[in-house]
Amino acid sequence: MEKTEKNQIDELKEKLFYSPKHASKILNDDIIEDADDFCESYKNFLDNAKTEREAASEIISLAKANGFIEFIPGEKYTAGEKIYYNNRGKSVILCVIGKKSVINGVKIAAAHIDSPRLDLKPNPLYEDCETAFLKTHYYGGIKKYQWPTIPLALHGAVVLKDGGVITVNVGEDDDDPKFVVTDLLPHLGAEQSKRTLGEGIKGEDLNVLVGSRPFKGDDSSESVKLNILNILYEKYGFTEPDFLSAELEVVPAFKACDIGFDRSMIGAYGHDDRVCAYPAVMAALDSENPEYTIMSVLTDKEETGSDGNTGLNSSYMKYFINYLASMEGYDGYEVMRKSECLSADVTAAFDPTYPEVMEKRNAAYINKGVAVMKYTGSRGKSGTSDASAEFMGKVRSFLDNANVVWQVGELGKVDAGGGGTVAKYVANLDVDVVDIGVPVLSMHSPFETVSKLDVYMAYKAFAEFFKLK
Ligand code: MN
Ligand code: MN
Repeated sequence: MEKTEKNQIDELKEKLFYSPKHASKILNDDIIEDADDFCESYKNFLDNAKTEREAASEIISLAKANGFIEFIPGEKYTAGEKIYYNNRGKSVILCVIGKKSVINGVKIAAAHIDSPRLDLKPNPLYEDCETAFLKTHYYGGIKKYQWPTIPLALHGAVVLKDGGVITVNVGEDDDDPKFVVTDLLPHLGAEQSKRTLGEGIKGEDLNVLVGSRPFKGDDSSESVKLNILNILYEKYGFTEPDFLSAELEVVPAFKACDIGFDRSMIGAYGHDDRVCAYPAVMAALDSENPEYTIMSVLTDKEETGSDGNTGLNSSYMKYFINYLASMEGYDGYEVMRKSECLSADVTAAFDPTYPEVMEKRNAAYINKGVAVMKYTGSRGKSGTSDASAEFMGKVRSFLDNANVVWQVGELGKVDAGGGGTVAKYVANLDVDVVDIGVPVLSMHSPFETVSKLDVYMAYKAFAEFFKLK
C-alpha cells in the first residue's frame, strides 16, 4: 500500500482533531493590536473600579456617555433605545432594545463586579499597645495567608443617621497613606510555620494597621484611637457609631500593570470578574440596533453565593425582564423561556507550576482564547446548570463563525475541588445558559494574572453574541 503523504496526514488531523491553539497563531497583527489597545482601557477601569459600588458607578458613567438613559418602570422603549437600570448602586443592567419583539427572547451577558476582599466589621476600630487597628471579616474565598504584608487601600461608603452618604477611597493615590496587615517574622514563626497553609493566618488575624500616634496632649487610654477618630471626623465628618452603617472594604492598593517582558499579560486585583464585566459592558455600549434585545447584567454578591437583593439569586433581573415583557403586553416567563445567556465568569488557567490539580485535556490555558465551560460545580456536577448540547452547539457555531478564539475549560480535576457561578440562577429562570470567561492565573489572590488576547476574545464573544440575527 502506498504511504500517505505527510501533508495529507496533517490535513486529516486538522480536519478531525480538536486542538486549540495559541491565539497569536490564529489572529492577525491588526487584531492583536486592537487587543492591546482594548486592554489599556481595561487597566484604567480596574484602577477606578475596585469595589462593586465603584464598578457600578463607573459603568453608569460610561453608559451615560454612550447615550444610555435611566430605565423608568412602566415607560415604553422602542427599538435601538439604550437604557440602564441601577440596582441600589451595586448592580447594573445595560439594555439595548432590539428590532424583534421581546417575545423572541433576550440575549444576556451576565458578569459580576464584586471580588474577594476584607470587609470591615460593624465595630472595627480598636487600640492595642498604642497601635490602632481595624477588625475585618473576609468576603468571598480567599487564601488568608496572601493578605498580610501587602499595601492595602480602604474603599466604601459610610451612611450617616441623616441619610447622607460619605464616599471613602484612601490608599490609591501615590501620596495617599496605605494600610497593612502584619505578619510574624520568620525568626519567631517556628510554631506558625507548623500550621497548615489554610490555618497559617487565621480570620481574626486579619487586622488592618491604621495608626500609632496618640492625640496631642492626651495622656489617657485609647489616645491613638482618639487621634484616628479625630482625623476621620475632620476629613470625612463621621464618628465611631457611623461605622455601624457603613460598608468599608479593604482591597489591595496595587495598580493594574503589564506582566512579562513581552507585556502579553495584565496583573491586577479583581480580574475575577471585572475581566468579564468590562468586556460585557463594552459589548453593550457598542451594540447598535441589535436584532434581539440585548442585556449586560453586572451583578453583585457572586463571591458569597449570589444571595441578597443585588445578587443574581434574587429577582431583580427577572423583574426587569418582566417590565420589558409587559411593555409589549407579554408575561416575563414567555420571554425568559426563549432567552439565552452567556454567564460571563473567569475560570482557573492551567498553571505549569501546579499541574497536579488539572486534567490537561479539559483545562483552560492562558492565550488560547475565551474559555467555554459546559458545567461548573463540584463532585458529581453538584451545583451546576450544565448547558445542553444543543446550546453548546449554538455557541460553538457563532463563536467559530465570528472568528473568536475559544477553548473549552473545566475548573480542575474531577473531585479536586470546584466552584460555581451565576449560571444556575439564570438557568433556573428557564433561560438557556452556558459559562464563558477568561482563564486566570492565581485566581482569587490579591494580584491575579490574565492574558490580553483572552480579554479581547471575551469582548469579541459578547459583542458577536449581541449581533446574532
Ligand atoms: Mn467569578
Ligand atoms: Mn470568584
